[in-house]
Amino acid sequence: MYNPYELRKSSLIAELSAGGIEAALITSPGSIFYLTGFHSDPHERFMGLLINPKESTYTLFVPALDQESASEEAMVSKLVAISDTDNAYELLGKEADNSATAIGVEKRHLNVATYEQLAGVFHKAAFRDVEPLLMRLRLRKSAEEIELVRAAVVIAEKVLQEAAAKAAVGVSELELNAEIEYRLRVLGGDKPAFETSVLGGARSALPHGRSGEYRLKENDFLLIDMGVYKGGYCSDITRTFVIGEGTAEQARIYDAVLAANHQAIAAAEAGRTLAVVDRAAREAITSRGYGEYFTHRVGHGFGIDIHELPSVHGSNESLIETGLLFTVEPGIYVPGVGGVRIEDDIYIGDDGKPQVLTSFPKELQHL
Ligand code: MN
Ligand code: MN
Repeated sequence: MYNPYELRKSSLIAELSAGGIEAALITSPGSIFYLTGFHSDPHERFMGLLINPKESTYTLFVPALDQESASEEAMVSKLVAISDTDNAYELLGKEADNSATAIGVEKRHLNVATYEQLAGVFHKAAFRDVEPLLMRLRLRKSAEEIELVRAAVVIAEKVLQEAAAKAAVGVSELELNAEIEYRLRVLGGDKPAFETSVLGGARSALPHGRSGEYRLKENDFLLIDMGVYKGGYCSDITRTFVIGEGTAEQARIYDAVLAANHQAIAAAEAGRTLAVVDRAAREAITSRGYGEYFTHRVGHGFGIDIHELPSVHGSNESLIETGLLFTVEPGIYVPGVGGVRIEDDIYIGDDGKPQVLTSFPKELQHL
């Protein structure tokens, strides 16, 4: 049986001990899943994994609603269910070593209200940020993790294919978006990995635009950015189409992005820097005259969460290593004209070469 959790927890414990951290309280659902196999979004309720490195104990606090699924799925020493009438921090105080002086937390994941409560529980403690440590542990993906990502990619590509077949003059962004999110669940996806983005015409020039009531017209770009979350892992793919014939300028923009996508992927080899990947894409776009319209980094790591390390940008001089999983997604966004992005999912295999997990065709398709 696939059970990587003991190894992950012991790696974390070794790092915590080496850093002099006497207890850690992990609260991000992604890292709780990574360490325990249990995934849940507690919304406004408290969920946390309390780790005692000295005793090697792991206590998972979950909302009572999640008790049954957590008891089946979570690889932990102890489970504490918190009902809506309980005070979560009192329960935490009973389990925690409140004499500890160094507590690991994920600082970006704590709000001030939670921080103040924790400061009451661990009244002698300084809070140390263990998020970078967790992100480093999660950075390199195993073959088993990549199989889960592949399964999420397969569904995304089927759905994208179906959406492309439904796109036509008069169809709205929201209609296509709804179709995508419906079909991805029918095909076995747990949920979208992030908010699906379907953008038509000049609206495709909004890199973070939200689908709206706009209806496709002849000669529009149609940009679809979507991902599937399945079995704990994400996929993330973007393709851009043209409705009808399109124009010569659209073809030029598309070719520039396609060249950037190819060159960036070719540059993504173990031993080079991540910056080189971004620069390869940027060079392809700049040399074709569109440099000022490529307004974001070329890619980002993903896995359990849709945005993880590494950040693939032009100043990241960290080396590419085997096990990295990240997107390559160059884009050109010309205000008033439209935008093109072509996004693939890349895994750096044991041989140090990029494996492209996404296989959806990249030549410009006219719908
Ligand atoms: Mn995307
Ligand atoms: Mn992405």
